[in-house]
Amino acid sequence: MIRTVKSIIRYLLERIISVIDPRKFYAFNANNLLILTYHRVLPSNHPDLKSEQPGMYVSPQTFRMHLDEIKKRFELMHLDDWIRAAKNKEPLPKYACAITFDDGWLDNYEYAYPILKELKVPATIFVVSSFLGTSYSFWPNRLNRLLGKLDPKLLNEFINSEEGAWLKDIMHEGQPITAKLDADMINQIIESCKTHNENELNSYIDRMESRLDESVISNNVDLMSRHHLQEMIESGLVRVGSHSCHHKRLLDGLDKNEIDDEIISSKEVLQAMLNMEIDLFCYPNGDYNQYSLDVVNENYSAACSTMSGWNTPRTNMLLLKRIGVHEDISSNKHKFLARLSGLL
Ligand SMILES: [Zn+2]
Repeated sequence: MIRTVKSIIRYLLERIISVIDPRKFYAFNANNLLILTYHRVLPSNHPDLKSEQPGMYVSPQTFRMHLDEIKKRFELMHLDDWIRAAKNKEPLPKYACAITFDDGWLDNYEYAYPILKELKVPATIFVVSSFLGTSYSFWPNRLNRLLGKLDPKLLNEFINSEEGAWLKDIMHEGQPITAKLDADMINQIIESCKTHNENELNSYIDRMESRLDESVISNNVDLMSRHHLQEMIESGLVRVGSHSCHHKRLLDGLDKNEIDDEIISSKEVLQAMLNMEIDLFCYPNGDYNQYSLDVVNENYSAACSTMSGWNTPRTNMLLLKRIGVHEDISSNKHKFLARLSGLL
């Protein structure tokens, strides 16, 4: 009931806000920069859709609709060109927009790049240097795939084993599972897992996989290789930024040497690999502490956060704001335009 009321209120707000041009909310600024954040672009028949969280993807059709709507209202620019012009006090458009993708998913190359090329839209991809060209999967995808495949008998056996104790704590007070988990339940489990750190979760999932039959364990290739990146870079439409070496949270729990490594080595590795200057950084999960901000400041000209909003040349360039867009909140024009306003 509460859910229905909330979705009706949201629907009405989307309709009201979308009839107002989102630029009107920021017309008092001389120069605006809207940065959009995408992760994955997956068509409706893609097998990964079953094991992906709703906040992680848009369909190719939705992505194309977004770019068409953006083109009517904004000047699309490479993010680093806008940063350079802002720092040098050069002329800037009143309304600029930069497209960004986080993590370096292979589907960015397969489904987003053809649309970027067709519509001649520039974009920046923030890649995780140590994962490029490997079969690494992020823990939510690994866990999602595993939980989606396990039948209740296997799941019960697992959560009652020594290796499964962590999952028992997370799943409704250890009640026996009577049916296969559906997508909503799996999403709730993944959200609850976020209290653990990524190293812990990966080692829990390693141990979970070690108990299971080979056929249950996925061998998906999720991320792009350096060859995909190089091809996109050569088109002139795609530029690359660093999203760290291992997607670690750059917080106080991480040793200063490790923070240095994640921020500085990723830049060095990518520069050597791609033979180009890497001058933009993006904080994994949007996490940072004062030390990581200082190291980013010494090594990059700007960095993207997960804070929501628009930017101007006066915004802190180490904490650029972005608007995250994904299918369930931007699948039609009204929802998308309302989302762009930064109010929803
Ligand atoms: Zn990321």
